[in-house]
Amino acid sequence: MTISAHPLVVRARELADGLLSPAAERVDQEGVPVSHIEAIRRSGLLGLNAPVAYGGSAAPAAVVRETAEILAGACCSTWFVQTQHHTPVLTLAKAELPVRDRLLGPLAKGGLLSGVAYAHLRSYPLVPVRVRREGDGWRFDGTVPWYTGWGLNDVILLAGVTEDDEALFAFVEAREQPGLRPSEPMRLAALTASRTVSLDLDGLRVPEDAVALRTPYEDWAATDRPKTLNANPAVFGITEAALALVDDEYAAPLRARTGEVRRRAYALADHPVPREHAQERLALRAEAFTLMRTATTAAVVSGGGRAMSVTGRAQRLAREALFLLVQGQTAVSRTAHLERLAERPR
Ligand SMILES: Cc1cc2nc3c(=O)[nH]c(=O)nc-3n(C[C@H](O)[C@H](O)[C@H](O)COP(=O)(O)OP(=O)(O)OC[C@H]3O[C@@H](n4cnc5c(N)ncnc54)[C@H](O)[C@@H]3O)c2cc1C
Repeated sequence: MTISAHPLVVRARELADGLLSPAAERVDQEGVPVSHIEAIRRSGLLGLNAPVAYGGSAAPAAVVRETAEILAGACCSTWFVQTQHHTPVLTLAKAELPVRDRLLGPLAKGGLLSGVAYAHLRSYPLVPVRVRREGDGWRFDGTVPWYTGWGLNDVILLAGVTEDDEALFAFVEAREQPGLRPSEPMRLAALTASRTVSLDLDGLRVPEDAVALRTPYEDWAATDRPKTLNANPAVFGITEAALALVDDEYAAPLRARTGEVRRRAYALADHPVPREHAQERLALRAEAFTLMRTATTAAVVSGGGRAMSVTGRAQRLAREALFLLVQGQTAVSRTAHLERLAERPR
């Protein structure tokens, strides 16, 4: 079966063309509606990474990437809310702990939608969220700087660092409760629609049976680091959406270059050793960003003054592109990107 004929890719395309894309400028201004989330829940896309035994599809990586491109190109805010869900699913799939049997089925089938709060682990040895033993469970203290999907998702996969330098991930309900207080939704240059907040944690109690992962920090970081080296499929999705607004005469060469970068980036993403070819991965990641910025700029230029309207598609894509430049950024990928930007133009 070709990738484009895979049932999840077909469903993503239907969702994108029938619902997400036509509403994207309104959603950008008003927020991701619950009805969009309901459509995502029904689509089967929340289980794309989940084991078949739990009701998921265990789809190949190429299908996962293609659906991400399609959704991000149609409505980046909706894509971003739902993409958080896939890390909790993958974490549970590997967890041989009681929480797996309680949550993996509902997460795989779309009965529950999860957000994540773990990017702050990457600022180690700074520890924005500290976890300590308390009785037969754990307590969380500190600040989660970014949490997307507040009010839309049901559970949070929340991470912190223990006093023994372990990364500890646990599920908590995504609602205000003793020890967990959200900020007001952030007003952002892009993706305000994603209902992103910060979370103030002040003695949040979490029972042992909610723990999904507890491992030495360095072990977690060793598996996390390679993930942030690769180009994000969403970048190609935004690039394609922007090029659709540009006359073919100008879009065609950019599309060809994007296709080549995508092919090389995905070949490396499929390489069996994720930490090999780090420099090449980072170079392709930066090249994908360059093409995305060029494509969104071309879309704005094509649209002229009308492109400046807040209801215009080109400016929305250009702002979403700005967001993707920093999403998931680490110290290493930031340096690599800045070095690339500082190169003399060829
Ligand atoms: C709109 C939006 C929504 C987001 N939603 C989520 C979410 O739901 N869940 C989630 O987990 N994350 C979320 N993030 C975080 C996101 O994935 C990235 O981790 C984040 O954008 C990277 O940027 P940063 O500002 O944390 O770090 P950057 O400033 O880009 O720095 C990158 C890295 O440099 C290092 N660093 C930076 N500052 C310091 C410092 N002062 N001291 C030491 N080291 C430092 C850290 O290693 C850091 O990770 C969101 C981000 C945005 C913009």
